[in-house]
Amino acid sequence: MNTLLYFAFWAGLFFVMMRFGCGAHVMGHGHHGHSGNNSGPAGGWTPPTRDIDPVCGMNVETNTAKSSVYSGRVYYFCSAEHRDTFEAAPERYLGKQARALATEHRHA
Ligand SMILES: [Zn+2]
Repeated sequence: MNTLLYFAFWAGLFFVMMRFGCGAHVMGHGHHGHSGNNSGPAGGWTPPTRDIDPVCGMNVETNTAKSSVYSGRVYYFCSAEHRDTFEAAPERYLGKQARALATEHRHA
């Protein structure tokens, strides 16, 4: 007899929980910290749609590009040749980027 009332009660409770429970937490405050290092297997890492080929500096589409994983990060390349070039000496291309950034902010 009271099935409808019972259902309504739970539906209402569910709604309140969604509204003021988890939902409020997710939408309320988000600390957007771009830490840069995505170390940690947990958490949904989604590949970017575009990335820079570290060998030639070209902007490549990740779904068509050749990819390689180096020190926990995925790198994308315009061609298999550039991927091979990178894999032969990854620190050469990554080191070059790091050094360029470091010298940029140095005066005299
Ligand atoms: Zn390339």
